[in-house]
Amino acid sequence: MIYEKSKQLFDEAKRYIAGGVDSPVRSFNAVGGTPLFIKNGSGSYITDVDGNRYIDYVCSWGPLILGHRDNDVMEAIKSVLERGTSFGAPTDLETELAKIIHKSEGGPEKIRFVNSGTEAAMSAIRLARGVTGKDKIIKFNGCYHGHADSLLVSAGSGAMTLGVPSSPGVPQSLASDTIVLEYNDDKSVADCFDKYGDRIACVIVESIAANMGLIIPKKSFLKTIRKNTRKYGALFIADEVLVGFRTCYGTAISKMGIDPDLICYGKVIGGGMPVAAYGGKSIYMSEIAPEGPIYQAGTLSGNPLGMAAGIATLKKLKKLDPYKYFEQLNSKLCSGLHKSASFHKISIDTPHAGSIFSIFFSNKRVENLLDVKNSNTNRFTRYFRSMLNQGIYFAPSPFETSFLSTEHTEDQISTTINAFDSFLEQEVS
Ligand SMILES: *Cc1c(COP(=O)(O)O)cnc(C)c1O
Repeated sequence: MIYEKSKQLFDEAKRYIAGGVDSPVRSFNAVGGTPLFIKNGSGSYITDVDGNRYIDYVCSWGPLILGHRDNDVMEAIKSVLERGTSFGAPTDLETELAKIIHKSEGGPEKIRFVNSGTEAAMSAIRLARGVTGKDKIIKFNGCYHGHADSLLVSAGSGAMTLGVPSSPGVPQSLASDTIVLEYNDDKSVADCFDKYGDRIACVIVESIAANMGLIIPKKSFLKTIRKNTRKYGALFIADEVLVGFRTCYGTAISKMGIDPDLICYGKVIGGGMPVAAYGGKSIYMSEIAPEGPIYQAGTLSGNPLGMAAGIATLKKLKKLDPYKYFEQLNSKLCSGLHKSASFHKISIDTPHAGSIFSIFFSNKRVENLLDVKNSNTNRFTRYFRSMLNQGIYFAPSPFETSFLSTEHTEDQISTTINAFDSFLEQEVS
């Protein structure tokens, strides 16, 4: 395939935009080569500026669960656009979307809309610290909750030591209030609460980890978090920015039988517009300004265009109820990949749930970030490039999840398995 125009546009972008992109993973740094500049999308396809067409398993990193340019979403945006783009005053659309989310599986009593998942997680943590009067938070290695300072923190050396900034610009003083533990490690959660319990404001966790590839939580892991947060009066924040409405019509954590205190939403609930939210029990949400003293605000929060896209998306999901279809496509894909891999004697792990999945070139089941790092990431890079050349667009990094939309078909799954088979053929030759 030819990527000439993308290359030219990227060179020009680099002169005026930091790194040529507005979000780092778009740069293809992890896999090399030029990022594709996209001309348009349609259903489950995207077309780049050089005219190459791809089956799109990125779906704008998750929001486009109905595929590109869904008719209902486009119509909803157009009809609201007639009224104006933003008022900085309430509209009925915010209440409508809030109600829809409230009524969904595991939906919060009250919600507050913001513009990005980053803001949702940051605000939920401020709320948890505000209501508990405690400062320390627990997060898990490899979970992503946006780029707020308190969350750009890695584990220090040794278990349960002070966190260290994972980016220059994050003060050590802030990082040291973030405790970083391994995902799926119940024992370290229990030990940490034994040691610091009375100083912990909250635990924030991805209900299904999907920002180090996809990692399914062990049942006991989330249960241990729930038990200890209750026991010590800390809040349980379920970050559902990515998985919300992707494994069921609502939160994945509720489906797993756990009742968190606060929930972060994003991606799907905005239908491709910049919308996210945090919500939870009224006793906590009533502490947010203006009702309570904990401050949080936003000029474009609850923006009518975003609300309209979100309402149209969730209404359509409710009507279509595509979750069985997703499971079906996902099983077909993953079993096809495994069949091809075992034929070529190459080990893979393909964790999947609802409409999300990922591929690790690993000879063991991947349970945490260390397992991901120990997988064959060089092979992943070759796989990514091979698939791209065969017209299939996956996330350009082994640390990302892939997405299905309602527009993906069984035929496209077969095409994808065949392309994977061709790749493995090259790998072993
Ligand atoms: C994408 C994501 C975020 C951040 O959302 P942005 O809208 O990119 O700020 C937070 N948490 C999780 C789990 C995410 O997947």
